[in-house]
Amino acid sequence: MTAGTFGEAGGGARTAVKVLRSAAAAGATVVLSGHVQPDADALGSTLALAEGLRRQGAHVYATFPGPFTLPESLGWLPGAATLVPSAEVPPHPDVFVSLDASSTGRLGELAALLEGAGTSVVVDHHASNPGFGGVRVIDPHAPATVTLVARLLDGLGVEWDAQLATCLYAGLAADTGSFRFGNTAPATHELAARLLRTGIDHAAISQRLFDTAPFGWLRLLSLVTGRAQLEPAVGAGLVWTWATTAEARDRGLAGDQLEALVDVVRSTQEADVACVLKGQDDGSWAVSMRSRGATDVARVAIALGGGGHRAAAGYTSRVDRDATVAALRRELGATLTSSPAAPAAPAAGLAH
Ligand code: 5GP
Ligand code: MN
Repeated sequence: MTAGTFGEAGGGARTAVKVLRSAAAAGATVVLSGHVQPDADALGSTLALAEGLRRQGAHVYATFPGPFTLPESLGWLPGAATLVPSAEVPPHPDVFVSLDASSTGRLGELAALLEGAGTSVVVDHHASNPGFGGVRVIDPHAPATVTLVARLLDGLGVEWDAQLATCLYAGLAADTGSFRFGNTAPATHELAARLLRTGIDHAAISQRLFDTAPFGWLRLLSLVTGRAQLEPAVGAGLVWTWATTAEARDRGLAGDQLEALVDVVRSTQEADVACVLKGQDDGSWAVSMRSRGATDVARVAIALGGGGHRAAAGYTSRVDRDATVAALRRELGATLTSSPAAPAAPAAGLAH
């Protein structure tokens, strides 16, 4: 590999390839995990690297932190049936690989493997990643974690077929919003072209990811858009709304059906920041934020205990809804006044 192949993750990536190559050659045990409530990038990265390592001889466990509920919208990913709950994973594997997790907290109970494993490898692209793990393949300029996994697979000498490419394409399409977001670079399209050449059905992948929801989702959407509040004076403009997992259940929907709501709310022209408060069964609020360009929502999320990218970030709030929104308003005001030079043009990073 050339020095520039991995961008900012260069040195760590070369070490990661060495670690993974010798683990596979020795038939060693490798555990791979994405973040809690995994998305297409986390699962696509996990499943592609898991399968690649399996083909090279490693003894692989692919998992994600509890609750072990695979989002219905991602259950079709090739290899999804091989995922095992964290309880079935050995606590002291030879290698542990964390994928798309921006902090140790996002690994839930699996964070223990960072210490428990012989070697830990962290593969991630979040700007808010503080740097953790023994070997770090962390590049905040990578549009998706799957792009880093693609390079690792090349380094390992794993040939890409439609199975691997489907996992990689799902993560790439999801985190770039179908190549619409500012994180899409020429190399992103080059990677997509290479994936398409394996014969994947990209139209079917996109339809499953973006254009498939039960009818009940329309009802949920009407509830959530009906509740939306526009507050133009907060920061560079805020639009926010909320829904709970219980309300999703009432409409026959799984809790992960709350995730796509922000993609509709974010189209609000008058608000730079769109926010959806997702009420969890334990009473906490998982907060999703998106910026149209002027606000660095990663900064807002970090200040409120979470993380993410400049244009897409989130955190968990354990106070009630009014207090959650009050804290958000405060932080948006503070972020805007503390960064007067914020660019008006859409900025680089977005997605998960
Ligand atoms: P989403 O709104 O789709 O759940 O997340 C948007 C981005 O923010 C993703 O990159 C995700 O990893 C990050 N994010 C969401 N919630 C949290 C959180 O509670 N903690 C951290 N560190 N990052 C989060
Ligand atoms: Mn991601």
